[in-house]
Amino acid sequence: GAASTKPHLDASKLTYEWNTKPKTVPATDDPVRRLQNSTTDHMITVKWTEANGWETPELKPYGPFQLEPTASCLHYATEAFEGMKAYRGVDGKLRLFRPDLNAKRMNLSSVRIALPSIQPEELEKLIKEFISIDGPKWLKDPNTFIYLRPAIIGSGAQLGVQRPREATLFIIAVLFPPMDKPTGMRLLASTEDMGVRAWHGGHGASKVGANYGPTLQAQGAAGARGFDQVLWLLGPEGRVTEAGASNFFVVWKNKTTGRTQLVTAPLDDRIILDGVTRRSVLELARKHLSHEATEPRAGGEDLEKIEVVEENFTITDLIQAYDEGRLLEAFACGTAFFLAPINGIQYKDKDMEVPMPVTAKDGSKAGKYGGVIKTWLKEIMYGVVDHPWGVVI
Ligand code: PMP
Repeated sequence: GAASTKPHLDASKLTYEWNTKPKTVPATDDPVRRLQNSTTDHMITVKWTEANGWETPELKPYGPFQLEPTASCLHYATEAFEGMKAYRGVDGKLRLFRPDLNAKRMNLSSVRIALPSIQPEELEKLIKEFISIDGPKWLKDPNTFIYLRPAIIGSGAQLGVQRPREATLFIIAVLFPPMDKPTGMRLLASTEDMGVRAWHGGHGASKVGANYGPTLQAQGAAGARGFDQVLWLLGPEGRVTEAGASNFFVVWKNKTTGRTQLVTAPLDDRIILDGVTRRSVLELARKHLSHEATEPRAGGEDLEKIEVVEENFTITDLIQAYDEGRLLEAFACGTAFFLAPINGIQYKDKDMEVPMPVTAKDGSKAGKYGGVIKTWLKEIMYGVVDHPWGVVI
């Protein structure tokens, strides 16, 4: 259409306005990090308009926006975002993990809610430039990370229910506390009263704000009952989709073949998010742990070979596997919680205790397969090994 002839996003035009009142970096264990509202010294913003396309990207001091109360995003959830981390490796280098995938997904999410296309390579360049500026100061210690939040909002004064004619893309970095769950997570499987996260023909596969706000009531209620996350089920058959804002995996013995499988819900009907961690888990498992594995890898040699499958399964399948002793482990994975073993799942009055047979040197628990895949991912993120997924800044 006509919009495609307008200027594209162009990272090479970035302008710089330095923060003259730089903040101090809180210690790694400072409780202020738990609030997840401390940011670094700068941000990048880029305005887009229907009339003029993408404008000049600007790096400037972090600070509040000015928005008209009639701004589209404040009324119609015209917002999409990404979540990724920058890591300080054991070798002192800064890395991103597969940032190309986040940039592509952000473009798909933006377009899903009638916000402009974002040229993924240019977004990736902006993210790298941003972390090359704020990363060195804010990521001092090896084995630490900072959370990056690229986002786009319909920022124009426009109360009509229409596609946004103005948008603002921004990139900020937020300090997080350590988020490992070394003792495992407890999940509450959703029941009808808690609603559903995503549905056929909806937008579950997009990382849009509209997917998250409506789940917070159920998440809060589950938290009040001592659960870490909601295991989102879908439909009368109770299809198992995702755990909170993470993808969900089980390792079980298949009920008909008896073969050991690593299973997660498929992407084809666009119910679940195409997680970067999910994809990476599947790729590593296929390459190093499956019957078709081409490369044995340290830590995986002694494990029984598995089938790696993306297939729908229901809470009834899960309960049956548990009752028959076929459920071997479960884990949730995503950028924020990384790869977290699951120690329990409750559905209505059925309480399942999920095995976590491996205890690591640091006392943390894991399943056999989740544990080794987590180690491999960590080695890439923190530069213990050289790998194309670990992109040095
Ligand atoms: N599912 C949902 C609903 C999410 O919000 C996230 C976090 N982006 C994930 C899964 C995990 O995706 P990723 O591994 O890319 O962080």
